[in-house]
Amino acid sequence: MHRPSAAQAVDCPSCGSSLDVDERFPAWCPGCEWNLSPAAGPAPHRTPRQQRGHLRAARRRAAREALVRARVEKLYESLTEDPARRHDANWFGAAAIAGAVHLLTLAVFTGSVLLVCDDRWPVRVLGVIGVVVAVLLRPRLGRVRNDANALRRDEAPALYALADRVAAAVGGKPVDVIRVTGAFNASFGRLGLLRRSELTLGLQLWTVLTPQQRVALLGHEFGHGVNGDSRRGLWLDSALRTLSTLHTMLLPDRRGSQRGAMVLFALVAGVAQGLVCRLIRVVLRLLHRLTSRSGQRAEYRADILAAELASTEAARGMLETLLLEQSVQTVRLRLRATPRPRRTGGSGTQPPAVDFWTTLAEQVADVPPLERERLRRLSARDLGAVDVSHPPTHLRMQLLDQRPKGLPSLELGDAETTAIEAELAPARKRLAAALLG
Ligand SMILES: [Zn+2]
Ligand SMILES: [Zn+2]
Repeated sequence: MHRPSAAQAVDCPSCGSSLDVDERFPAWCPGCEWNLSPAAGPAPHRTPRQQRGHLRAARRRAAREALVRARVEKLYESLTEDPARRHDANWFGAAAIAGAVHLLTLAVFTGSVLLVCDDRWPVRVLGVIGVVVAVLLRPRLGRVRNDANALRRDEAPALYALADRVAAAVGGKPVDVIRVTGAFNASFGRLGLLRRSELTLGLQLWTVLTPQQRVALLGHEFGHGVNGDSRRGLWLDSALRTLSTLHTMLLPDRRGSQRGAMVLFALVAGVAQGLVCRLIRVVLRLLHRLTSRSGQRAEYRADILAAELASTEAARGMLETLLLEQSVQTVRLRLRATPRPRRTGGSGTQPPAVDFWTTLAEQVADVPPLERERLRRLSARDLGAVDVSHPPTHLRMQLLDQRPKGLPSLELGDAETTAIEAELAPARKRLAAALLG
C-alpha cells in the first residue's frame, strides 16, 4: 500500500480556501467545486463556423440533459413520497404496447400459416416468407448458459448457501445458477421458458466490496427478483426484443446497386422500409421511456431491500463503491502495463493472477474520502448524462441517507467469507489472466 509522501497544502485558485492535495488524484475544491471535473486537455482549434456548430450541439445536449434531469428528479420525489406504489399509468401503457406487438407477431404467424395452406404456389411462397418472419419475431426468452463462468452448487457450496440466505431474507426463491465474470458489475435475471434465475457476479466489483457490502449487493440483486421490475418481465422484455429484431431486418439497404426498373422499385421499397423503421423507433423510444420509470423505481426499491438486509451503512458503501469504476479500471490498466517476470518452473514467482485481486482491493480501499466525495458530486452534476434506465448513484445514496442507520439482519461471518473466497479462487485465477492478458 502506498500513501502519499506528503499531502501538499495549496490554495484554491477560485475561492482561495486551503486545499489538501493528494498527488495521486485530481486537486479540487469541496467549497466552490473548482476543478471537480478536470479538463481532458486543451480545447481543439476550431474555425468560427465549427465553433458555432459546436456551441449549437452543446446547447442541444444541455437541453436534453435538463429534460432527463427533471425526469429523474421527479421520479425520485414521487418515490420518496409514495414508496409502495408499484405500477403507474406508464407501466400499463407499456404493457398494452407490448401486448399489441405480441398480437402482431401472432397475426403474422396465423395469417402466414393460412397462406401456406392455399392452392396457388405464389401465395404459398408468401406464406412461407411470413412464417419465417414470424419465427424471427417470436418472443425471445434467453437461456441459462452452462459455460466455464457458471458455478455449480457443489463447486461453491458456501457462496450458494449465502445466496440462499439472502434470497430467503428478501422473500425470494433460491437462485438456479450463479455465474462469475471479470466485470465491474452484478446482475440478476430470469431466463428460458422455465424462467430459471441467474445471478451474475462481476469479480472486479465483488473484490473491492467489504463482506457486508457484498451482502448488500446480493440483497440488491435478489431484490430485483421480488420487486416487480417490469422490464425484466417476459411480457415487456420479449416485446422490446421483437421490435429491435424487426428494426434491424427492415433497415433500408443504401448501397444502391439496383439498375433500370429495379431502381424505382428499390426507391419505393426503401421509403416504405424507412417509414416503418421510423415508426418502430418511435415505439421503442416510447416503451423505453415508459419502462425506464418503473425500472428506476425498481432499482431504488432493491436498494432499500439491500439496506434492510445488510444495514444502511453497508448498502450506501456498496453504492459509493459503484462510483469507483474508473479507479478500478486505472488500477487494472496500470497492472496490465507493468512488465511481469516470466514464470520459470519452480522459481517461486507468483503468477500475476494472485497479485491482481489483492492489489486491486488494496488500492481501491486506499482511495481517500476526498476523492470519493469528488466522484459523488460528479455523479450529481452529470445527472443529465446518465442512462435513463438507471437512477444516478448519488440519488440512490441520498435515498439511503434518509433511512435510519439500524443493524443488519444478515451478517457475513469471517469463516463464511474465507470459505467463499476459497471457492472463487479458480475463477479468480482464470479471470485475472484474461483481464491482464
Ligand atoms: Zn474553492
Ligand atoms: Zn439493480
